[in-house]
Amino acid sequence: MTDTATAGSLAAIADEHGSTGASSLEALWLPFTANRAFKRAPRLLTAASGMYYTTADGRQILDGTAGLWCVNAGHCRAPIVDAIVAQAREMDYAPSFQMGHPLSFRLAERLAALLPGDVDHVFFTNSGSESVDTALKIALAYHRSRGEPERTRFVGRLRGYHGVGFGGISVGGIENNRIAFMSQLLPHVDHLAHTHDPARNAFSRGQPAHGAELADDLQRIIKERGAQSIAAVIVEPVAGSTGVLVPPKGYLERLRSICSAHGILLIFDEVITGFGRLGAPFAAQHFGVVPDLMTVAKGLSNGAVPMGAVFVRRGIYDTVVGATSQGIEFFHGYTYSGHPLAAAAALGALDVYEQEGLFTRAAGLGKYWEEAAHSLRDLPRVIDIRNIGLVAGIELEPRADAPGARGYDVFLECFNQGVLIRVTGDTIALSPPLIIERAQIDRIFDVIRQVVRRVA
Ligand code: PLP
Repeated sequence: MTDTATAGSLAAIADEHGSTGASSLEALWLPFTANRAFKRAPRLLTAASGMYYTTADGRQILDGTAGLWCVNAGHCRAPIVDAIVAQAREMDYAPSFQMGHPLSFRLAERLAALLPGDVDHVFFTNSGSESVDTALKIALAYHRSRGEPERTRFVGRLRGYHGVGFGGISVGGIENNRIAFMSQLLPHVDHLAHTHDPARNAFSRGQPAHGAELADDLQRIIKERGAQSIAAVIVEPVAGSTGVLVPPKGYLERLRSICSAHGILLIFDEVITGFGRLGAPFAAQHFGVVPDLMTVAKGLSNGAVPMGAVFVRRGIYDTVVGATSQGIEFFHGYTYSGHPLAAAAALGALDVYEQEGLFTRAAGLGKYWEEAAHSLRDLPRVIDIRNIGLVAGIELEPRADAPGARGYDVFLECFNQGVLIRVTGDTIALSPPLIIERAQIDRIFDVIRQVVRRVA
């Protein structure tokens, strides 16, 4: 089924229910969306609770993607909603430059206690993209502060996604996100080879067996550029937006040791892996690899109020702050860094995560999830299935003439059948709220099974 097949009915529903309160959908420019197709056949969500969205026409949609990988505790959780409401009454906003408010300090301290090793300082942002740009700047500031200002080069990875700031798309490796902006990307950026190797690793359960040696690609870049020119390497521990790429066994460990040997900072972009997604608070703990900087967002506030953060090793904070004898040490920050409502939401989210054991729930449910995902293996057109924690990628063979079209059709039909999935190209990427129950896991994969059989 194509988007136009449902266009008439959905547009009529949107109007009939007055659900937008707008006379037309035209004024809004939607991000990362086929705007014209969407406006012909809008998909409008009007309410959410627990594992479900409600659509404008009153249907319940099981959320297989935690919104956009962010609603880890489920939707509209009372402790989070109440915390936001109470804070909005108490104090709506406080300046974040040269001023502070209690919640942001409390939140930083709570987060520091959850972090691995000596990663124990927190810089607040409002999104993953801002976290990435902030981390890159911290890396430059660190090397400059310790007397190596020539370390300015960044290394990202092909197929990496680090948001949409100029920093993020420069180190990112998703071609469509870069192509139109090529002329103005950051200079001095190299990319590691990606780790996707279906010839050796297709249908791996958890971490693939082959590919640790791909980390040695960093040695190639070091040889070419000189280690003393490289400030930082940034990778997603598990690449999400490119279609769920789980790191091969030993790969992250090897990357860590090469970075350490050459004084290069290692940044883990944990925007999707943070806050329990893999069965530990962060991927760093799940994989037992401690980076120098971590970028987060999404699950930090359970998606309820925009918030991001960079987690920083103590020595990096001390070096940058100690390098200036007086005055501002780091010329960077956002009007809404540590915003009171976001901080309240994040504290509420941490309460829920901790009280309900959500940081480790994915570890307990992981086997069930894995079995359910891999039960799709024999479906027509399924060419790979990958999983870790409560994440799964199901890759469909692209249509010869239209890459991405098969995935999009499956996405639309799953939505029609009451399940929200996400597709990136022809890969279905699943990442449900961590409160999901077994019966809901069954439903997600049953619907995908039927839909792939029918429309793929
Ligand atoms: N980094 C990673 C790994 C992400 O997955 C994302 C978003 O999906 C981002 C950064 C960007 O986050 P935001 O959309 O909040 O800017």
